[in-house]
Amino acid sequence: MPVTIVGGGLAGCEAAWQLLRRGHRVRLLEMRPSVETGAHDGDGLAQLVCSNSLKGKGLSSAHGCLKAEATVLGSLLLEVAGEVSIPAGGALAVERAAFSAAVEERLLKAGVELVREELTEFPAFPVVIASGPLTSPALMKSLVKELGAERLFFHDATAPVFTTESLDLKRVFAAGRHGQAADYLNVGLNKEEYLRFREQLINLPRARVHGVEEELADNNFAVFEGCLPIEVLAERSEDALRYGPLRPIGLRTPAGENFYAVLQLRAEDSTRTRYNLVGCQTRLTPLAQRALFRSLPGLEQAEFVRYGRMHRNSYLNGYQLLNPTLELRGQRGIFVAGQLSGAEGYTEAIATGLLAGLNLDRRLRGLDPLTPPAVSLLGALTRTIAGKGLLHKSGVPAPVNVNFGLLPPLNGPKVKKKKERKEAYSQRSQAAMHVFRYGINN
Ligand SMILES: Cc1cc2nc3c(=O)[nH]c(=O)nc-3n(C[C@H](O)[C@H](O)[C@H](O)COP(=O)(O)OP(=O)(O)OC[C@H]3O[C@@H](n4cnc5c(N)ncnc54)[C@H](O)[C@@H]3O)c2cc1C
Repeated sequence: MPVTIVGGGLAGCEAAWQLLRRGHRVRLLEMRPSVETGAHDGDGLAQLVCSNSLKGKGLSSAHGCLKAEATVLGSLLLEVAGEVSIPAGGALAVERAAFSAAVEERLLKAGVELVREELTEFPAFPVVIASGPLTSPALMKSLVKELGAERLFFHDATAPVFTTESLDLKRVFAAGRHGQAADYLNVGLNKEEYLRFREQLINLPRARVHGVEEELADNNFAVFEGCLPIEVLAERSEDALRYGPLRPIGLRTPAGENFYAVLQLRAEDSTRTRYNLVGCQTRLTPLAQRALFRSLPGLEQAEFVRYGRMHRNSYLNGYQLLNPTLELRGQRGIFVAGQLSGAEGYTEAIATGLLAGLNLDRRLRGLDPLTPPAVSLLGALTRTIAGKGLLHKSGVPAPVNVNFGLLPPLNGPKVKKKKERKEAYSQRSQAAMHVFRYGINN
């Protein structure tokens, strides 16, 4: 019986791969290009819609630990990400077009049936629903109706991208944080420049998107703390930006000059023809973005390849609907993965897609789906989204990013140094994941 995967994004592609390599016939439904999401660009599979970074790679970072877990389980997307990676200090950044093309090629070679079609009705067993934060309204409506589910959402924005030739490379400086390789371009600001930047952020006009103003005012869970638009951050306090995306710590010019605040630019591709502004997701109007970013030293002539833009991110109430195996409660063989499940972030989408694929394979072999170990970040993530783990103050479950705080404490003597403690969490999770890999495949 062919398996259906709804959505050719990060989670859907990873789930498709896991099922293909276990011998299943896979139909992958992707609605683009006939139905657009507003954030994806064209019809490529596995697109990174905003940043081109999958975050940290080292085992002292939670995202590095989750990547290592997914690698133990045989993730295709992380393997491809490694192949098309570009230098970005401690982060795994990729050339997004090459990443998307390589994933698509691998899936087609493995025999996926790629169907360019929007699913509008609730799907039948066996299926992984991975239609993402921008699930089409028709499908969302069916899911909500069929599942009696609450549809949750928050608002998120993308960050602008500039051409390299339009940047003044004499004024921006190449450097990595804490002496790491000089993979980033940096815009250093003194206090006066920083305060002016913040003032503009607060006062410049924001794009009006139909319905968004009302939702931001009504919905008490309007924005996600994990990726706040910079104008929202600027409003919080004078220093919020300096403790966030404009953090100056560990960044200095080759001559040793320090700054009050620093904006970082990350290359979009290995030829470095375009750069994105790290952590600067915004919904200012395009005109306001031009005024704001061109007021920065070195960006006076910046040409925008893409402007930041606001999007509504939808997800389902996992606490109401999901098992930690990612199977819908009471719906055998129907799995939800990616951001629709309540897991937030690229790596989280890949890892949950992987788990949904592995567990659907188990269902099809007459076995019960499994939950990854509680000491692994994947296990902690799915337990959190399916449990009462993270409730927003409004009472609804918040989307979940991985972090070491989701894990049970370490046994044994206290590891004092933070970095070593994090590595110890990672080592414990790797050991557990090797055992889990054996169990889930048998
Ligand atoms: C604007 C925006 C910016 C983001 N920026 C970041 C970031 O910088 N870093 C980060 O870690 N995370 C970011 N995220 C969050 C999240 O990690 C990404 O959205 C990620 O791509 C989610 O993976 P996914 O597989 O769940 O969904 P997607 O990758 O979006 O894949 C879902 C796919 O399903 C398709 N689809 C939707 N409805 C249907 C339907 N009815 N029938 C058929 N196909 C359908 C879509 O076209 C899409 O290709 C961002 C999200 C948004 C919306």
